[in-house]
Amino acid sequence: MTDVLTRAQRTFNMKRIKGKDTRPEMLIRRGLHALGLRYSLHSRRLPGSPDLVFTRHSAVIFVHGCFWHRHRCHMFKMPSTSRGFWAKKIAGNAERDSKTIKLLHDQGWRVMVIWECALRGTRRLKLRTVLKRAHSFLRGGRKLLELKGG
Ligand SMILES: [Zn+2]
Repeated sequence: MTDVLTRAQRTFNMKRIKGKDTRPEMLIRRGLHALGLRYSLHSRRLPGSPDLVFTRHSAVIFVHGCFWHRHRCHMFKMPSTSRGFWAKKIAGNAERDSKTIKLLHDQGWRVMVIWECALRGTRRLKLRTVLKRAHSFLRGGRKLLELKGG
């Protein structure tokens, strides 16, 4: 049992390291930058350390991996081993995400979540579409926008 947990924890650590500067996030960053939008990255001053922070627009963007953040979509699949470990870990992440959004809203930040499935996989949207949606979110006044695969 100990060994199973250790192994699961190790896999978890590796996946988490790989999760930094993931390709979907880079696509968004480069695209928005090309549109002239300026942001800071992974601000630790804010709840949840949002991936991109647009101070001028009082807005943040998260690019969420569908696995880690338990998106109910075709890209989410519970691992077949150490299910208990994963279920607990991922449920914890999802719970933290809702709290984070609430905290950000309380502080006057608007929040956009771009799900991985909007950028990768069989149901991904055109990058141009995603960038357009992000751009209009930033200029608009919506408090919350989630964008997922089609
Ligand atoms: Zn998804």
